[in-house]
Amino acid sequence: MINARWVQQGATGSVAHLLIDSRKLLFPPTTLFFALVTASRDGHQFIGKLYQQGVRHFVVSEKQDFTSFPEADFLLVADTLKALQLLASRHRSNFSIPVIGITGSNGKTTVKEWLHQLLEPDRQVIRSPRSYNSQIGVPLSVWLMEPQHELAVFEAGISRCGEMDALEAIIRPTIGIFTNLGSAHNEGFASMEEKLQEKWKLFAHADIVIYKRDAGLVDEMIARRGAISPALFGWSFDGDGDMVVQVSAKQETHTLCQVLTAGDRFELKIPFTDEASIENALTCCATLVYLGMPADTIQSRIGQLHRMAMRLELKEGINQCSVINDSYSADLSSLAIALDFLSQQQQHIHKTVILSDIPEAGLSPAELYERIGALLKHHGVGRLLAIGPVISEYQQVIEKYGLPVVSFLSTENFLQHFDELSFQDETILVKGARRFGFEAISAQLEMQVHQTVMEINLNAMLNNLRQYQQLLQGGTRLMAMVKAFSYGSGSFEIANLLQFHGVDYLAVAYTDEGVALRKAGIHLPILVMNADPAGFDALVSNNLEPVIYSLRLYRRFEAFIRQEGIPLYPVHLEMETGMNRLGFSRQDIPELLQLLPGAVFKVQSVFSHLAASEDPAQDGFTREQAGRFQEYCDQIAGILPYPFLRHIENTAAIFRHPQWQFDMVRLGIGLYGMDAAASGKLRLEEVSTLKTTIAQIKSLEPGESVGYGRRGKITEPTVTATVRIGYADGYPRILGNGRGKMLVANHLAPVIGSICMDMTMIDITGIPGVKEGDEVVVFGRELSVNAVAEWAGTIPYEMLTGISQRVKRIYYQD
Ligand SMILES: *Cc1c(COP(=O)(O)O)cnc(C)c1O
Repeated sequence: MINARWVQQGATGSVAHLLIDSRKLLFPPTTLFFALVTASRDGHQFIGKLYQQGVRHFVVSEKQDFTSFPEADFLLVADTLKALQLLASRHRSNFSIPVIGITGSNGKTTVKEWLHQLLEPDRQVIRSPRSYNSQIGVPLSVWLMEPQHELAVFEAGISRCGEMDALEAIIRPTIGIFTNLGSAHNEGFASMEEKLQEKWKLFAHADIVIYKRDAGLVDEMIARRGAISPALFGWSFDGDGDMVVQVSAKQETHTLCQVLTAGDRFELKIPFTDEASIENALTCCATLVYLGMPADTIQSRIGQLHRMAMRLELKEGINQCSVINDSYSADLSSLAIALDFLSQQQQHIHKTVILSDIPEAGLSPAELYERIGALLKHHGVGRLLAIGPVISEYQQVIEKYGLPVVSFLSTENFLQHFDELSFQDETILVKGARRFGFEAISAQLEMQVHQTVMEINLNAMLNNLRQYQQLLQGGTRLMAMVKAFSYGSGSFEIANLLQFHGVDYLAVAYTDEGVALRKAGIHLPILVMNADPAGFDALVSNNLEPVIYSLRLYRRFEAFIRQEGIPLYPVHLEMETGMNRLGFSRQDIPELLQLLPGAVFKVQSVFSHLAASEDPAQDGFTREQAGRFQEYCDQIAGILPYPFLRHIENTAAIFRHPQWQFDMVRLGIGLYGMDAAASGKLRLEEVSTLKTTIAQIKSLEPGESVGYGRRGKITEPTVTATVRIGYADGYPRILGNGRGKMLVANHLAPVIGSICMDMTMIDITGIPGVKEGDEVVVFGRELSVNAVAEWAGTIPYEMLTGISQRVKRIYYQD
């Protein structure tokens, strides 16, 4: 089926699970591993480990030394990703059920999740887990189709021309849905038309495409195509189309519409008021109309839609706990994803899962809870708190996997016993079907936060890491700079992610930062740039590796190590090449070379720091720095009997000077989404979003003033909003009096008057629909921290690291 050559046949038994990530192995004997090769990782490296863990079926694109794996099957193909896709498309061809394929720029995942909610009461629906919509996500989703399913809903996302054909061949939608055309991923396409054409390829074999008539590019393209297939089902607000919608009233919590279709007219109450949700709900409504659902059923089901919290959030909890809140859905595949996220967390030894009944289509409860028991055990869960009549009944099935289960018949029942459950110093995953109302549980577990938060997008960080990994020459290692609370974005939460995704080294500025990481279970090697003699004890007992940058520090640390009777301790040598901050200078080197051979130190690396790697005008100087560095390294290599790592590059240099990557690079600001080399060529995503909320709105008249010193002068009728952030939170006071702006309902609102310690007033005159309690973005994806830093006359590094620790960090994965 996948055009493979069977190069070794050693296994027996059949295959049920596909695996592309060795860390996610669950059922070794029935797993088929695809050794994918990407710019940052080669799956073939993990074959040995997987074999040891019991995997026997492999699809590879490189010949292996098969003799070390006598009991395994090896299928050799030219391209393992293509093979995965081919297998999924063959699997797809076994089914003749309706398959809905969704694409468009925004709203794909929401529309998919909502359609699932809307259709699930009558039929067994299979859908893509979360936003599995990529070249890898789509085949893995389609592989989940099983005989009992009656309808499938899959989403397809592309970022570049030429990608959709492959996805179409796997999904083969019979019903297409096009959500809308927006600016996402514009960089991958020559024009909006080209992007639209590419996306539309998903519908090559569909019977029908459901879309919103937009009086723009979509309608133009359709008009040009004429009456060729597929057929169309268009909806619009303007009186034209197969379904026409008139918004009759917008209220505080919902929107009322009149819906007119070929055979019917009915009123629809959409439980949202924002444009995007209304549009997504109407796309779903059009689909239901097309599928022939009676109007009264459509009315009642759409009325019950709820907003998707499509991300896993990690928050600080009571009693030193960390809480992962994932109570928007409960099915096996999303449970597996949430458990993966849970197992990445190393900060607490104990892991607890609070889980409701799972209304899983098509599996007997005995089999379902059997699988859940295996999953929980595999992910090292220490205890299960089970809520619901069914899961309680099958408690023993899960207990067989050696994990203590306490069960409760209902959420109320659980809450009554909350205090006896003594949550302490553990990571808790809260996962329940919507009707169990687990919000009440997470509210009890989470710490109250003041309403200014910094949200850290872990997917964005991972994307940035991958972008830089792609720039590395083969074999170059990567050290991630997590100093200063990971450039303001967190500590162990970030380190956990980096550790999980194969970073080689971490670096912090001071010993206590390294100690905090060790306490949170980070076991990667950690370099400490500025180790103070007062902290040598903590340094050594936490296995942290200091930078030795002067002869004085060399002697002091050596004395300490000898006094402790340690035979050999790992250190890093920093060489001065032009930054003039820390490091051995040329005149120190003869003495250093004399000391080293007899030292109690194992030199792990020799490094230096570039002063102006981002600046083309300084490339001559950078070259001189690199030259000196090479010279010093050669001298040290001449006297040390073992090899060491050499590194000099920071973020900007990785991109601009690939020739000096040596053995390792030190990635800092790029990881957090800043293109330090201003290359414009990397697809970096902003990681941190700083948000606050409106405490009060005021209407002011000419002659009044705002804030201290009456510096905000009112000359025309003005509406102001007081927001909950001030200079004590790290919002620079220099941004007062119009220099800074915040984003309110997609409009820029300038600061009015001087910034106070804990509050700031902004001018929201003319911005429609703003209420007290609304969210305000201080910086983030839509308002770059670069821009805000520029207004404040500083650099993003200072802006990010200056955000006070009193601002709570929330970590999430889409
Ligand atoms: C901070 C730092 C880096 C990272 O610099 P970026 O510009 O953020 O990439 C690298 N090396 C050293 C020694 C540093 O102090």
